[in-house]
Amino acid sequence: MKIKSAEFVMSNSDVAKCPKQPLPEYAFIGRSNVGKSSLINMLTDRKSLAKTSGRPGKTQLINHFIINDNWFLVDLPGYGYARVSKSTKKTFQKFITNYFEQRQQLVSAFVLIDIRHKPQPIDLDFMQYLGEREIPFSIIFTKADKLKPKAIERHVEDYCNRLLQFWEELPPYFVTSSSKKIGQDEVLGFISDTNEE
Ligand code: GDP
Repeated sequence: MKIKSAEFVMSNSDVAKCPKQPLPEYAFIGRSNVGKSSLINMLTDRKSLAKTSGRPGKTQLINHFIINDNWFLVDLPGYGYARVSKSTKKTFQKFITNYFEQRQQLVSAFVLIDIRHKPQPIDLDFMQYLGEREIPFSIIFTKADKLKPKAIERHVEDYCNRLLQFWEELPPYFVTSSSKKIGQDEVLGFISDTNEE
């Protein structure tokens, strides 16, 4: 897919106020600092698209961008567990779960994982949450330039083995580097392939 246009549309924290156009939507999410803004900029060939909504608190908002006038790219805040009083049950922030449970046009989520790190409980819990609700998702490993090819292979394999302990099959996954521009064609190709009306 060639990116012809990429524009910021709006930010808000309420799924009911998200754009009304019924366009296919892809949502990017991960822990803060995973490389999400850099990845969005790399995928869209823009230097600072993911920051154009940039005002304080932006990290707690659902940010919509329209790409090629035919799909939405959504930059979601870094997730964390919500504090639930008198309960040890771990839940994610309400506006994030509202988004995933109510946004009808969501085609797929992309869960970003820093390729250097071992599987973290919060990421595994989040994928579990998506899986239980049958929300399609793929994994995007970020910052692949930080490892040598052999180490990339080993880290991806370890991650997949861990997932296979509780998943019957693996979600699609992509290895990317925003600084070396690796993975753009693969992620955009996946979006084109699944973005049929
Ligand atoms: P966000 O908080 O998830 O939006 O992460 P950012 O995109 O702001 O990136 C967090 C940090 O990781 C910044 O210092 C980036 O320069 C760095 N970073 C992001 N992507 C890459 C990458 O592909 N390679 C390397 N080496 N650093 C990256």
